[in-house]
Amino acid sequence: MPESPSLPPSHPPEGELELVEELRRTLGRLDSALGQIREALVLVDAAGQVIWSNAAFDGLVGKRRLEILGASLHRVLPLNHVGEPILTIEQTRGANQNSGMLNAILSELPLQALEVEWHPVLTEEPNPLMFSFRDVSNRLALATQAMRCSVTGLLNRRGLLERIQTSLHHLRRQPGLVTLLFCDLNHFKQINDLYGHHVGDRLLIEIGQRLRANIRPEDVVGRIGGDEFVVLAIDVDSREEAIQWANRLHTKITAPWHDEGKTITPRLSIGIALTADPEISVDELLCNSDLAMYSAKASPTASVALFDPQLDKQVKRESLIRSRLQTVLAADQLCVNYQPIIDLVNGSIIGFEALARFPAEEGVSILPSEFIPVAENAGLIHRISDIVLSHCLEELSGLSKGLQAMSISINMSPLQLSQEGLATKMIQIAEKLQVPLSYLVLEVTESPLIDRPQSAIRELGHLRDCGCRVYLDDFGTGYSSMSWLAQLPIDGIKIDRSFVTGLLTDPRSSLLVATMVRLARDLELDVIAEGVEEEAQVDALLAMGCTKGQGYLFGAPAPFPERFSFSNPRCAAVPASTTSSSAGSPPPACARDSTKGDHR
Ligand code: C2E
Ligand code: CA
Ligand code: CA
Repeated sequence: MPESPSLPPSHPPEGELELVEELRRTLGRLDSALGQIREALVLVDAAGQVIWSNAAFDGLVGKRRLEILGASLHRVLPLNHVGEPILTIEQTRGANQNSGMLNAILSELPLQALEVEWHPVLTEEPNPLMFSFRDVSNRLALATQAMRCSVTGLLNRRGLLERIQTSLHHLRRQPGLVTLLFCDLNHFKQINDLYGHHVGDRLLIEIGQRLRANIRPEDVVGRIGGDEFVVLAIDVDSREEAIQWANRLHTKITAPWHDEGKTITPRLSIGIALTADPEISVDELLCNSDLAMYSAKASPTASVALFDPQLDKQVKRESLIRSRLQTVLAADQLCVNYQPIIDLVNGSIIGFEALARFPAEEGVSILPSEFIPVAENAGLIHRISDIVLSHCLEELSGLSKGLQAMSISINMSPLQLSQEGLATKMIQIAEKLQVPLSYLVLEVTESPLIDRPQSAIRELGHLRDCGCRVYLDDFGTGYSSMSWLAQLPIDGIKIDRSFVTGLLTDPRSSLLVATMVRLARDLELDVIAEGVEEEAQVDALLAMGCTKGQGYLFGAPAPFPERFSFSNPRCAAVPASTTSSSAGSPPPACARDSTKGDHR
């Protein structure tokens, strides 16, 4: 008879039972012991599902054990590390990181941070992973105190720069976009001045809270300057999405704010910069968003602007000009050219306009229309003005008595006019060189007279008392009204070249010039037409009653005074060989004046 297969005993033998019982007790002891420790522990199988957790872990995620077991770890505890999802189980294995450690920031405000550590459990293949979590919020808060703004609790510049750097590094592993929104509060200084710094501080806190409340938990926000906030995001997919997001954020942040009976409506400009390039520097990305913010601020209609590489070009050009300016000024190489102003009736020179010139470098010249605004922004305009003034006064003091009846006009930057003590300074320089100020004409534009009427008008009045004459430059391009013009402390106007250019071809220009001349004459003001390039324009101007002019027809700006013949009647300034130069082509300029026209 074949041997019948031995049936499993219906009850395990006694010894085995004891063993199972012992194992169960051990597991129970382990479970209870591991449940006592403060560290949160979770065991995850190869598919990423939780197969065991301790009480601390259940407490950490705020769920019951039954909800946790079998669920994926990522779903139970969605971890973020500076806005970047922590490696999932698949990624952990894929990246061959069977064990590792990192810090995860669960929330920014209040700071909740975990130190996460994981190791393989080598009992089976593929290995389950054991994760442990330690709350390091306090430690991290202390360590990052120096990275936080004491008023708003947000990250400060240092903290934010570090976060941006981390996000850029992350682009190397996972291509995508890093987006910065540079948010600048408009008129914050006025709010501080009007209501006090305590209200200003509360507004900053409010703005910080509004920003936080309207971004995703994984986005980062920092306050990097007085009224400047920056939001960093890593999950914006396109420029269009970024613009929509920034516009939505703008609406939320600029809602009226009620504070102790006051209602303040914050105004905000937002600049956006995005990059997919992990190698871009943090400074450059931040600077791009700042530039975009400035263009939003300058726009009369938009509050949000996207960085445009053209802006970058402009900024680089400006910085090149600034450094060239510094070199030129340090080496005392700034030149001054002079353009004659003509009595249109008899063609004699009655004066000159002094125009600052850059020495040309390798044949390339930087025009005043470019370097004067840069000089104004860089605080170098006063130095340029002093050089031009000294040059002019020196030229005047060197003139023979007969020619001193001629005046030299200098252009006054609006910044100069807002300078206290301008008149005193100019009077001192003139006295030192023994030149009467009556030979000097100051050309001013309207804006400083509109913006700071009291101090500008006082300084100009003082200079006029000493004999200086004042002309309103580029007349017709500003906002002059008749009543305003009558009140200004001026002696004359210079009709802008744009009107003279169209004098013969555009009936509107012709009508406007005629009106300006009549207005000036009615107010007993002198009139000079700028940009005269043709004989026929001279005739038209004379017919309208304008008897003074300046332009390439008579002479381009040139060094003083060797290129000008003072005796030649009509177009006296033009050397004989160039008197027939056609419209638009000025007489040859001096070696240092490579600008052949006004390129503004
Ligand atoms: P602006 O005061 O209106 O000076 C006249 C400009 O028109 C000069 O340009 C001159 O070269 C140009 N121009 C004169 N006649 C003609 C003409 O017939 N046709 C054309 N197309 N252009 C003519 P420039 O020298 O390039 O100066 C541009 C502007 O830069 C000046 O305009 C003035 O606003 C500013 N600027 C120049 N030098 C100084 C300076 O020393 N200080 C200050 N604050 N501004 C200056
Ligand atoms: Ca001028
Ligand atoms: Ca002008």
